[in-house]
Amino acid sequence: MSKTTICPGCGLHLPSEMEQLDERYNASYACRELCGELSAYTLSLGDEEFIHQLVVDAYAAQHASTAMKPIAITFALAGLYLRYEHNYTGKQVQHAHMLLARTPKNWSHFNPPEAKATITILDILNTPDSERTATLEAWGKAVWNTWKPEHARIASLVNERLKV
Ligand SMILES: [Zn+2]
Repeated sequence: MSKTTICPGCGLHLPSEMEQLDERYNASYACRELCGELSAYTLSLGDEEFIHQLVVDAYAAQHASTAMKPIAITFALAGLYLRYEHNYTGKQVQHAHMLLARTPKNWSHFNPPEAKATITILDILNTPDSERTATLEAWGKAVWNTWKPEHARIASLVNERLKV
């Protein structure tokens, strides 16, 4: 008999043997598995832009919960902010994260949005290789848009600390 779990982060209904959730990520184990699958794919690309960074940030931002460490949410949102408002590549975001980690360790709390992006990790995996990067970008953008109420605060944090 196959069971279904609903991912609390992205809302995906997925068949799963395990009914409990991966609380660290506010995700179902089945959703975490898909994230692992996509990560294996993006890491295998070995691309100069390092698109994999977007998977990390968008996934964390889509699955954010109040139980998550403020630093994890802040880094994910800073990554999406720099990607979509400043056109940073994954590689540049990675560098920005490194600089951000050297700034004072007082991290603000950002409130996860009620709205959920309609694109999920499953949509990306279901997209043929040739169009997968485009779907990935659209997913990240959709997740970033759900955080609209916090856009101004994340922008000022990044601008203040990194002078971008
Ligand atoms: Zn999920």
